[in-house]
Amino acid sequence: MKWISVSSARQESSIDQAVEVRGWVRTRRDSKAGFSFIEVNDGSCFGNLQVVANGDLVNYADEVQKLTAGCSVVVSGKLVASPAAGQATELQADSVRVIGWCDPDSYPLQKKRHSFEKLREWAHLRGRTNTLGAVMRLRNQICDSIHRFFQEQGFIYLQTPIITASDCEGAGEMFRVTTLNLDKLTGSGRPVDHGQDFFGKPAFLTVSGQLEAETYASALSRVYTFGPTFRAENSNTSRHLAEFWMVEPEVAFFDLSDNMRLAEAFLKRVLSDCLNHCDEDLQFFNQHIRKGLIDQLTAVHDQPFSHMSYTEAVEVLQRSDQAFEYPVEWGTDLQAEHERYLTEQHVNGPLILTDYPASIKPFYMRLSDDERTVAAMDVLVPGVGEIIGGSQREDRLETLLGRMAAGGLSEADYWWYVDLRRFGSVPHAGFGLGLERAVQYLTGMANIRDVIPFPRFPGNAEF
Ligand code: ATP
Ligand code: MN
Repeated sequence: MKWISVSSARQESSIDQAVEVRGWVRTRRDSKAGFSFIEVNDGSCFGNLQVVANGDLVNYADEVQKLTAGCSVVVSGKLVASPAAGQATELQADSVRVIGWCDPDSYPLQKKRHSFEKLREWAHLRGRTNTLGAVMRLRNQICDSIHRFFQEQGFIYLQTPIITASDCEGAGEMFRVTTLNLDKLTGSGRPVDHGQDFFGKPAFLTVSGQLEAETYASALSRVYTFGPTFRAENSNTSRHLAEFWMVEPEVAFFDLSDNMRLAEAFLKRVLSDCLNHCDEDLQFFNQHIRKGLIDQLTAVHDQPFSHMSYTEAVEVLQRSDQAFEYPVEWGTDLQAEHERYLTEQHVNGPLILTDYPASIKPFYMRLSDDERTVAAMDVLVPGVGEIIGGSQREDRLETLLGRMAAGGLSEADYWWYVDLRRFGSVPHAGFGLGLERAVQYLTGMANIRDVIPFPRFPGNAEF
């Protein structure tokens, strides 16, 4: 018997085939006419496959009629055209084999609706719900598009280290990596001897692969990293995780406008792939998670992104009649509420903000001629706020050293990074996209903890 996925079994073109389908029962309904409808899903698509199990199956009374949500089954039979609305096919079962039972009294997902907060406590099971299944398929599509986009543009996929001894300054609080026995250290009162530690100096989990990516961009011209990133920020927000995935392209012979064009083309490609390949899942988000999502995404794809300098943005915010929690003043970092006002109310679409004050951005961003701003760009989107942060990098040796000194960074710690400005320095630029923020944007999911399989946040490392 030919095994096929539920996704394939639901296609009209599969009608008349004899197949085997493997999955988990979502619901069972018994008809008075002596047969049962079993909805089976295997995660390959949003919709379930309707299985029609006749009363003459050998295990009908003993097993089929005892099936409940969560039981795993292997069903074989013939796919036929379904008279029911919303599905092209249904499976006329010759055999329903029960592989694993699922006790309805203790199965947490037995009840139909649970809050997303509650589902996080069952992160090992929540992938079986409609919403999390759809999120993970969309997330997969985004990952696929990321690789395709960069590969098609001639980028080299680069793996940068996860353990690092250099703090990518300004990016956030870091997790310490150590083999020292912390139990012995606490309370000893003695300063820690880093020489005794595994790497002979303090080491951390990376907050960004950018500095390392810059070194390879200075050799291979176009590179991108795509991997886990860690920030020990104690921020309990709906858009921060302690462990998240970041995509970081870095390009040589590239300036800020090139960088903005790349970011826009990239986001549009990811967006159109999702619109083209994830229709069923997006329809669900559109109806149940965020009304109007599909129209919004389609409109974004068809229009150029808006651009504005940080200075203009501050003026817009100061002129607006919104009551912000945090005041806006030139030289302060924009808060989520400001970003969201700009992208949602002011332009109602993606917005690229550029030319931020040097004082609030890291040392590696290129200083502009006004000497007050740097060639930075953030991409803001409705529903999320900042989704991308990037810049043209400082490629002039003296200026870089000056910025490092001003920021209290020692050249010795960044000698290899500084070397790039000594040996064939070129203008170059890049950005970082937080994968989970992209998933939030494309699904309309309110909380970042619900768009990653196992979220890590303050107080939570379960599973
Ligand atoms: P924010 O201001 O939102 O905290 P950031 O400016 O610190 O972000 P960057 O250092 O610019 O972030 O990182 C690049 C991208 O990585 C961000 O635009 C965002 O999409 C993502 N990102 C940053 N921090 C987190 C986090 N804690 N959880 C999830 N994604 C994050
Ligand atoms: Mn940023």
